[in-house]
Amino acid sequence: MKDKQPTGKHRIDTEIITVGRNPSEQFGFVNPPVYRGSTVLYPDLESFKQRKARYPYGRYGSPTTDSLEDGMTLLEGGAGTVLTSSGLSAIAVALQACLKSGDHLLLTDSCYAPTRKFCDGLMSRFGVTIEYYDPHIGSGIADLVRPETAVIFLESPGSQTFEVQDVPAIIEVARKHDIVTIIDNTWATPLFFRPLDFGVDISIHAATKYVGGHSDVMLGTVTANERTWPEIQKTWHLLGECAGPDVAWLGQRGLRTLSVRVHRQMAAGLEVARWLEARREVAQVLHPALESHPDHALWKRDFKGATSLFSIVLKPGPAEALTAFIDGLELYGIGASWGGYESLVLPFDPRAVRTATTWDADGPAVRLHIGLEDTADLIADLEAGLERWGKAGGGH
Ligand SMILES: *Cc1c(COP(=O)(O)O)cnc(C)c1O
Repeated sequence: MKDKQPTGKHRIDTEIITVGRNPSEQFGFVNPPVYRGSTVLYPDLESFKQRKARYPYGRYGSPTTDSLEDGMTLLEGGAGTVLTSSGLSAIAVALQACLKSGDHLLLTDSCYAPTRKFCDGLMSRFGVTIEYYDPHIGSGIADLVRPETAVIFLESPGSQTFEVQDVPAIIEVARKHDIVTIIDNTWATPLFFRPLDFGVDISIHAATKYVGGHSDVMLGTVTANERTWPEIQKTWHLLGECAGPDVAWLGQRGLRTLSVRVHRQMAAGLEVARWLEARREVAQVLHPALESHPDHALWKRDFKGATSLFSIVLKPGPAEALTAFIDGLELYGIGASWGGYESLVLPFDPRAVRTATTWDADGPAVRLHIGLEDTADLIADLEAGLERWGKAGGGH
């Protein structure tokens, strides 16, 4: 039996089917097995002393983890990928690999809040100076660069407020000053944005979200280019990070259907967003693929698609109206995370975390994740919700 491997000749939806699979080594079974293991046995003392083994120890990986790593490396176009126990730990590995005491870190004000907490709470303790910048800064980031600036961290779009960053403009400045760039690419998935093609050094994912796709894993990935890969691999090793075999296996399974899920969710998300845009209760829809979004042109220039996470800003209204809107929804779960098959809703207030920018919406902000349910049902549920909002005194 001959294994079918990605050849680089085909389009990504074809390559994603074969990457990280080798049936000839698994008695013909299509999928890689789950290798559960800590100890790896060596044939004799000499080979143990030299660690002459493809997989020296459970923490360093197995054919199961290789499968997902190879998939992410292919999709992101990197030199290599490491798996971590969560998306946040992927961010922590990437930052620790690239920063040392005395360095200056530029962090987008729109980043995932726990990224901020990690930097303020831990990196600062290790002597890193953290400075937040406006996600819309573009080439203006040059004004913030200091001799000791070592890393610029991006997240585009921000996963609550959906500012799209001018990645090429920021990369140009970073390259000129030999600054490493790291991006949180969770929203776009590598199918809709490939940061390394734009010159970003490191792309991280909360594979917990769309890659896993079923709300059943905590998993992170760090994919690096040639320049940063040795340091990423070394730091990952030193920190003792790893993902368990069952979780890694679910991650590689998620990859097989990632394209069909995100395309269907893109269409559904846009349909719901357009419907919301026409509602009088809604002041603003923050979805980069809508023509009305302030950063639509940037999104259109750099992205190949949009996933199904976006936010709305309602007209001003009392807290009871927001509660009536959200608590009565039948199809949207209230909870953190996203990227699974099910729809979710969550109010948020950026004022709680922002320092470099202001948030001046008058009404409450609500983030929606559109799942794989029937879109008409999802819209009907929101329609009933907005009726409750209005009846309870919400603005329209
Ligand atoms: C959820 C999330 C993370 C963290 O992922 P976990 O697996 O929950 O640790 C990082 N970045 C973004 C944008 C996220 O939404």
